[in-house]
Amino acid sequence: MFAALLAGCAPALHGAAPVPLNAAWAIEPPAVYAEWWNRTEQCSGRTGDFTRVEFYAVADWHGQIYLGSQRAEAWWVRRGNRIYLPESALLREQLVRHEMLHALTHDAHHPADLFVRRCRVLSEATWADSSAEQPGRLATE
Ligand SMILES: [Zn+2]
Repeated sequence: MFAALLAGCAPALHGAAPVPLNAAWAIEPPAVYAEWWNRTEQCSGRTGDFTRVEFYAVADWHGQIYLGSQRAEAWWVRRGNRIYLPESALLREQLVRHEMLHALTHDAHHPADLFVRRCRVLSEATWADSSAEQPGRLATE
């Protein structure tokens, strides 16, 4: 089960109207997001237009948010290239960059090459493994 451990992104819901969840509201991305986007472009080798991504904050319940009946830590929704983040974790780099990587690949799957080996954003565990390493070095492996 992915929902409890990963920053979930519901493949089954893609194509359906994004139905928020709890209360959600559009936000201006914090300044650091541009830097995180650049780093995610670098580690993944993908490029995308940061200004075309829509960010939403969601009122969360202990870090969990809901999309319909599904629960996850955060969501990327293909339509509108939207990223939903818990209000309490807007500055959690691993979580934000996990969703950014979906926005860059336009894919809800989690290929290990990108999410684990190159960008390390799959989960808190893969992120912790990379804490002493330089993202730039990882990107060239
Ligand atoms: Zn994901």
